[in-house]
Amino acid sequence: MKNANFSPESLMMSYAYRPELSEGSLKCPIFQTSTFVFSSAEQGKAHFELAYGLRQKNEGEEPGLIYSRINNPDLQILEERLCLWDKAEAGAVFESGMSAIATTFMELLQPGDLLLFSNPLYGGTDHFVRHFLTRWGVNVLGFHPEQSEAEIAAMVEASGMADRLAMIYLETPANPTNTLIDIQMCRRLADRYSNPEKTVLVAVDNTYLGPLWQHPLQQGADLVLYSATKYIGGHSDVIAGAVLGNNELIGKLKVGRTFFGNMAGPWTGWLLMRSLETLKLRMEEQCRNAQKIAQVLNQHPQIQKVHYLGLLQESDGEQYEIYQRQCLSPGAMIAFEIKGSEAEAFRFLNGLRLVKLAVSLGGTESLAQHPASMTHAGVSPEDKVRLGIHDGLVRLSIGVENVNDLLFDIKQALEKTAVSQTNQVVEEVY
Ligand SMILES: *Cc1c(COP(=O)(O)O)cnc(C)c1O
Repeated sequence: MKNANFSPESLMMSYAYRPELSEGSLKCPIFQTSTFVFSSAEQGKAHFELAYGLRQKNEGEEPGLIYSRINNPDLQILEERLCLWDKAEAGAVFESGMSAIATTFMELLQPGDLLLFSNPLYGGTDHFVRHFLTRWGVNVLGFHPEQSEAEIAAMVEASGMADRLAMIYLETPANPTNTLIDIQMCRRLADRYSNPEKTVLVAVDNTYLGPLWQHPLQQGADLVLYSATKYIGGHSDVIAGAVLGNNELIGKLKVGRTFFGNMAGPWTGWLLMRSLETLKLRMEEQCRNAQKIAQVLNQHPQIQKVHYLGLLQESDGEQYEIYQRQCLSPGAMIAFEIKGSEAEAFRFLNGLRLVKLAVSLGGTESLAQHPASMTHAGVSPEDKVRLGIHDGLVRLSIGVENVNDLLFDIKQALEKTAVSQTNQVVEEVY
């Protein structure tokens, strides 16, 4: 379909769905079925020939529906809609962000390969890379955001495995401190170690800013990955994941998905299609709220430092330059260092009344959590220092509530922190 002139938000209600195939139903039904009826034995044979790659597609032929582990209309239509935001050729939806990530690694890496990855990664991904991939004979090497292109290249060469580099995997902005990693720089590194026999792939976890505000495929990445549990789902009521890229790579991932059996079910597909209709509305409001909140936090006497992309300035040097080149908006994730340590951070979190104390992000409701003891509890003490995950650090995911209510709640919780500090001093004096 050549609808290139319509914006994604205009197409989210209808794209890739044909009512005439579903009794004229305006909305895409939930195709709650495990298997699909063939109109004839010949048609069944033709579907299988394509599914098993025994012949090429005929002109205008679409792969037929066989069985819901391989494909289902709710997944197919969702995948086509998701592609529009990132201008991707193809997409594959999974039952979780982790299954999207794990399938990407298992399908595209071989024993003996080298995987280069950015720190810090999402906790689940970090565990999978360090403790699972290594058991399967994949070599892994992490780099840190402050390392330059030359330093990373020197590290790859020093590993003695530069010729086995197969993939660079990165997460930007990094969770929880919003540190940016330069996707174009990773592309240059990948090209440097590619040769006629192998292309080094660049894969980007775009959960934090995508699919609206950062388009890694336009910056040179081969694959973009999502925890669709976060902004795409957006209502904290479904777990799902997605990978987007070119036909060849996504074709491979769909083969992997067929045999791992980790496709999303039709209900998940339907829920995510419903979510996509309001994706832009939600994300834009979340960002507007976050910008106002970050400004207030930045002036607050109880706060040491605010990590928010919207506060980056020219004086921040390279981070500011990457932001200008790579991001379309500062997003709705804020981290801040409270004056004090874990006790002060906990008093703040326990004092919140509207904002909920929970991990996860990207939903309509605002959430707060303590990375050092929660999402990043598994990070080693040295890495915590290096990555800025201090005991006083709090992470906020801003939702769509009235911003004045959010500000009221955050301010009153911060005041409690201050009051308790005074009490402590008083107690010590007496
Ligand atoms: C949540 C998250 C994941 C994992 O996704 P699930 O849907 O929970 O499996 C991966 N990467 C990032 C950045 C995340 O925030």
